[in-house]
Amino acid sequence: MPPGPGMPPGPGMPHGPGMPPGPGMPPGPGMPPVAGMMPAPGPPAKHGLSLDSMPSAVQVIEEDRSTRSGLFPTGYPNAEHPPLCTTDFFAQDQGILLAGNCNPRFMRSTLYVAPASSDVLKNSQIPFAVAISPFAPLTQKELRPPIIDLGEMGPVRCVRCKAYMCAFMEFQDGGRRFKCPFCLATTKGKQQIFLVMELLFNVGGFLVEDGYFAHLDPSGRRSDIQHRPEQFLGSYDFIATKPYCKNGLKPKEPAFIFMLDVSYTAVHSGLVSTFCKNIRRLLEALPKDSYEEKSSMRVGFVTYDQTIHFYNLKNPLGQPKMTVVSDMQDVFTPLVDGFLVSLEEAEPALESLLIEIEKMFADTRITDTILGPVIQAGMDALKCADRAGKLFVFHTNLPLYEAPGKLKNRDDRKLLGSDKEKVIHEGKNVLQPASDFYCKLGEECVKNGCAVDLFLFPNSFVDVASLAPVCTLSGGFLYKYQYFEASKDADRFLYDLGHDISREIVFDVMMRVRTSTGLRPTGFFGSFYMDNSTDMEMGAFDCDKAVHVEMRHDDKLPEGYAHIQCATLFTSCSGQRRLRVHNLTLLVSGDYNLLYRVADHGALVSFLFKQAESMVRDKSPKEMRETITSRCAQMLASYRERCSEQAPPGQLILPECLKLLPLYGNCIIRNDAVSGGSDCTVDDRAWMMNMVPSLTVEDSMKILYPLVYPVTDLALENVTDELVFPGCVRAAYEYFNNEKAYLMCNGIMMFLWIGLGVSQEWVQDVFNANSVAQLNTESHFVPERDNPRSRALRKLIERLKMTNTRSMKLFVIRQQDALEAWMKRFLVEDESSNMLSYVKYLCEIHKEIRNLLS
Ligand SMILES: [Zn+2]
Repeated sequence: MPPGPGMPPGPGMPHGPGMPPGPGMPPGPGMPPVAGMMPAPGPPAKHGLSLDSMPSAVQVIEEDRSTRSGLFPTGYPNAEHPPLCTTDFFAQDQGILLAGNCNPRFMRSTLYVAPASSDVLKNSQIPFAVAISPFAPLTQKELRPPIIDLGEMGPVRCVRCKAYMCAFMEFQDGGRRFKCPFCLATTKGKQQIFLVMELLFNVGGFLVEDGYFAHLDPSGRRSDIQHRPEQFLGSYDFIATKPYCKNGLKPKEPAFIFMLDVSYTAVHSGLVSTFCKNIRRLLEALPKDSYEEKSSMRVGFVTYDQTIHFYNLKNPLGQPKMTVVSDMQDVFTPLVDGFLVSLEEAEPALESLLIEIEKMFADTRITDTILGPVIQAGMDALKCADRAGKLFVFHTNLPLYEAPGKLKNRDDRKLLGSDKEKVIHEGKNVLQPASDFYCKLGEECVKNGCAVDLFLFPNSFVDVASLAPVCTLSGGFLYKYQYFEASKDADRFLYDLGHDISREIVFDVMMRVRTSTGLRPTGFFGSFYMDNSTDMEMGAFDCDKAVHVEMRHDDKLPEGYAHIQCATLFTSCSGQRRLRVHNLTLLVSGDYNLLYRVADHGALVSFLFKQAESMVRDKSPKEMRETITSRCAQMLASYRERCSEQAPPGQLILPECLKLLPLYGNCIIRNDAVSGGSDCTVDDRAWMMNMVPSLTVEDSMKILYPLVYPVTDLALENVTDELVFPGCVRAAYEYFNNEKAYLMCNGIMMFLWIGLGVSQEWVQDVFNANSVAQLNTESHFVPERDNPRSRALRKLIERLKMTNTRSMKLFVIRQQDALEAWMKRFLVEDESSNMLSYVKYLCEIHKEIRNLLS
């Protein structure tokens, strides 16, 4: 049974540097070897070019952590270049006169100055983009966006460009007008708002005068500023008025509908039982608004195989009633009374329903199932109930039963990674949907404020490429548990489901980015649907997702500042229609030196990763690799040309902020999501590809470069002791000491690598085994044992899991075992299959830079 994405190739994988020194190739900004590490067992570098002399991600992360942890003032008037997302910082607006830029967790720019013109941007070759997570989780020390209620008047906006009121709107004329920093139009405060009010509501203007007018103090600030968070904070929510609501009606509380496959595979893998036994507990954590005592979300339950079964949970007799829909060609949703209910209302009947479901389908023989009609029915149920919401669909195998959305087997992994990847398989590229059924369905879901999360439990090919669009277009996510067996995999599934149910989420979402005149958002990456060139729409959006928006110039920017504002219209989990506004202001500059000093490596790499993923959708992997490599080389060549002319020709000079660009450039092009070859399954490859667009900066970085912790020296005397994270080692085999064990984590899975020379005491303490040779490497967990070493390792694993957005499967790998070769694929500084090592790649980049300069 394959262990997951990218099955191990045979043992004996080549690795190690061993590379010719490129002419004039320098040891880059030198760095010492990681403290305490012994270069073992790999062969020593033969040609004097060792990894130690290459810029190291581990070192950069450590340095940033030691110099930039703690308070980060977001800056005023222009946003400050933030710490790396791996650093423990807390961001703060700095009081009324020095605030107005949002927390970088919400919005992070690839550049912390706005290039003055398209020429400057083009010459620098750095993409100008923002990564936006409007609902990113905050630390306890950080301020949640306050909720502003302007009553009937609603959010105040520029009449011309519709930008929302923010700290950079400049009040004039005693407070009667404000100048918009986005379009530079002057809005006559009272009168214009009056005009809008009149248009929208047909009501008199006196409300407005009372509503937003304020005298200015001698410094030109509004006298009421301390009561107006939108005047001095970078992020805030406005309560939206009726014009922002569907059909002008205030929304109802959103709903979660759980739709469970009850076919033979679902029952026999233990999925049905795992779901029924645990869902009640997980629902305790349904999301609630900050002002709510308990969640007001609605829930509904559906089971299906070849027909769909709806359950009424409000039966006065306490027994759930089932309504069956069997016409799959024309699904109608029965008006089931008591289908969508609050948890309280569901309570009396829910327990017996869950017991009943387990019993009812225990002896099923149905193997072929439907899927399309199920999603349609769920969406219709939300529509009929006038609610936005999300469908949690738990599905096992390829939907083969005769019904809309039926798919067929077209598994052909040998094409992957090759230039024939795009070669058509029975009329379709295997990484593209076989039909547009699930794309159309996804669009329809978005229009009805419905998102779809698919939890797949397949035993064979399930055609992720065809199914994924219903998730990615609607703002949902696709989870996959290949060969699910409840006894081994239930914990992972329940972790994901629990996290999905409880995290911050909003519904029926529309997002728009506005920029200063002269700039325009042009490229959009994420899980959403767009039917015009400006608005991103999602059925739901949660705290684990991001969108990336690229900007280009229409015109030269005037001197001063450029403004970026992201407004997200949504229905909260209590049914309140609100707008979340995030602002970012950048100094306009044409100074290349400055530009390269404030480039943000996280936002930039994450953006390039998304570009790479988007590129492999219609170009060959080879073209994608060449484009990304040449883009990296161009950025560095341009720096060389414009900022370090004095340096001797032939020497590689990397700007401090971008010194890891060659490393991450290589990590991008060798990542399985964009380059996974025939050792991936088609489904795994499609799954990873579809995950990339909505990754946050933090998650992108994790997936691209795994963190490797040495764990043999860890010990925790008491269970309650705080664990001090060990310093990481670089992701290259030559840094693995065979007398140690390492935990490697890339956000998708974890590996515990155990060297053959690890002390017997450690193996005994952690695994209760007599020697490394006797270790059971089949298990996917570290047993619970009562000693300092076991406690420390388990706590480290627990902490890594807790801070990850999805569950990770753990693989125990003994040095020289067959699986080790597979694990080595993730050691991204080494050579792997046909991918270059970091050292060789850096030489390639250097060669290309020299070509560009000559
Ligand atoms: Zn404007």
